[in-house]
Amino acid sequence: MSSLFPALTDGPGDRVALRFGERSLTYGGLAGAAGALAARLRGAGRVAVWATTELETAVAVTGSLLAGVAAVPLNPRSGEKELAHILSDSAPALVLAAPGTQLPPILDGLERLDVDASAVGAVPEERAADGDPALVVYTSGTTGPPKGAVLPRRALAATLDALAVAWRWTGDDVLVHGLPLFHVHGLVLGVLGPLRRGGSVRHLGRFSPRGVARELNAGATMLFGVPTMYHRIAEALPGDPELAGALAGARLLVSGSAALPVHDHERIRAATGRRVIERYGMTETLMNTSVRADGEARAGTVGVPLPGVELRLVEEDGTEIAGYDGESVGEIQVRGPNLFTGYLNRPDATAAAFTRDGWFRTGDMAVREPDGYVRIVGRKATDLIKSGGYKIGAGEIENALLEHPGVREAAVTGEPDADLGERIVAWIVPADPQAPPADAELADHVARRLAPHKRPRVVRHLDALPRNDMGKIMKRALADG
Ligand code: ATP
Ligand code: MG
Repeated sequence: MSSLFPALTDGPGDRVALRFGERSLTYGGLAGAAGALAARLRGAGRVAVWATTELETAVAVTGSLLAGVAAVPLNPRSGEKELAHILSDSAPALVLAAPGTQLPPILDGLERLDVDASAVGAVPEERAADGDPALVVYTSGTTGPPKGAVLPRRALAATLDALAVAWRWTGDDVLVHGLPLFHVHGLVLGVLGPLRRGGSVRHLGRFSPRGVARELNAGATMLFGVPTMYHRIAEALPGDPELAGALAGARLLVSGSAALPVHDHERIRAATGRRVIERYGMTETLMNTSVRADGEARAGTVGVPLPGVELRLVEEDGTEIAGYDGESVGEIQVRGPNLFTGYLNRPDATAAAFTRDGWFRTGDMAVREPDGYVRIVGRKATDLIKSGGYKIGAGEIENALLEHPGVREAAVTGEPDADLGERIVAWIVPADPQAPPADAELADHVARRLAPHKRPRVVRHLDALPRNDMGKIMKRALADG
C-alpha cells in the first residue's frame, strides 16, 4: 500500500511535526529517527512500546509502521496483572523504550531496544499490505479485561482520511492534546492524525486548562480531549477570560472516548460562544461518527456516520430500525474499512462481535434524530436499565443530575428490584459534601426534567467516581461496591 505518512518524505523537512513539552522534532528529524529505527526492526515480530515519554513513543510507533511491524502500546500505569495479561497475550519480540527509562520487572525477560530520537536513517519504502496489522491496541477495560484489537494499516488510513474530510483537517492544523499515547484517541487521532496530514501536534504532557490556553494562543488550531478535560475547562472558564478567548479562537474543539455531559457542553458554549463537537469511536472500529466541521454541534449527539462508514441501529430481535424517528433505541452496528480484523487470540470473541453479514456489534445503544444525527443512549451492558416495563438510558438521567447545582459528578446504574425488575440507582459526588442535596429533591429534579419513571429510587454518595485513565466511569466497580 502507499505510504501512511507521505509528509515524512514529501513535505518541508524543517516543519515541526511533534512538540512534547520542551522537546520537538521536525519532519526531517522524525524521518531520520523513525527511519533509523525501522531499519533495526525490519523482520521483527510484534514489538511492545513502553509509552512513557511521548516523543520516543511517537518515534517508536512511526518507526514500527515504516518497518511494517505491528506495535503494541503499553500503558505504564497498568497494574502487574494487566501488564502480565497483555504481554502473554501479545507475545512481543522486544520492547521499545526511551533511553534511561526504568522498566518494571515484569518486562525483564524481554529484549529491550532504546529509541534514539536523534538518530539519522533513511525512510524505507513501506512494503506492508493494506490488511497487515499496524497496531494491536488494548481496549480501555471499561466493561471487562482489556482485549487486544488488531488494527490493519487500511483502518488507520481510512479513519484518518475520513476525519480529514469531516473536520477539514489539513497540514496547516496544529493540534493540542494531553492524552496518553496507548489508546486510539491519543495515539491514532492525536499523533498519527497530524502526521498523516503533514501538520503538527503539541502535547501538553499533563493536561491543564492553562496549558490549553497557552497553546491555542500560540497558534494551535484544534483541541482533542476526553469529557473529564472539558469538564475541567468548563469549571475553569468563569475565572479565566484568557482561556475563554483562546477557545473562542480555536478552529475545532473535539471531544470523544465517552459522552460529553450536556451541562459541560452548554457551559463552554455560554462562556466562549463555541460548541464542542463530539465524535464516537471504539478501539475496534476507530472512528464511526462525528459532527462535521461545518455541521451543527448539538449537545448530546455524536453527529453522522463518517465517509465510508455504514451504520445501522438494530433491535434486540435482530431487525433493523428503519427511518430516523428520534425515539427507537437500537444497538449501533457498523461496517467499513475502519474496522479491526479481530481480537488477538480470541477467535470466539471475534466471531461473537460480528453478525453473519459482517456488521460489527458495538454494544452501544442509540437513537437517530430525524436528520440522521446519532444520539448515544449508553452501553447495552451497563447503561440500559429495564425498570417497570421501560427501557431507560442511564445517560439522560446522568445529564439531568449534573444540571443540579448540588451535584458535581453523577453515574446511574440499575440494580435488581423485586417489584420493578431493576431500580434506578444514582451515584453522586456532591458539590458540597457538607451540604449534599436531599435524595427526594434529586429524584424530583429528574422526574420534572425527564419523566416520573426515570427518577432515581436510591441515591448513593461517593467522594469521587471510579474512573480509568481516559476518565471513563468504571460502572463495573460501582456495581461491585
Ligand atoms: P472495554 O471494551 O474494554 O470494556 P471500552 O469500550 O471503554 O472498554 P474503548 O474502545 O476505549 O474501550 O471505548 C469505546 C467505547 O467508548 C464505545 O463503545 C462507547 O461506549 C464509548 N464512547 C466513545 N466515544 C463516545 C462518545 N462520543 N459518546 C459516548 N460514548 C462514547
Ligand atoms: Mg468496548
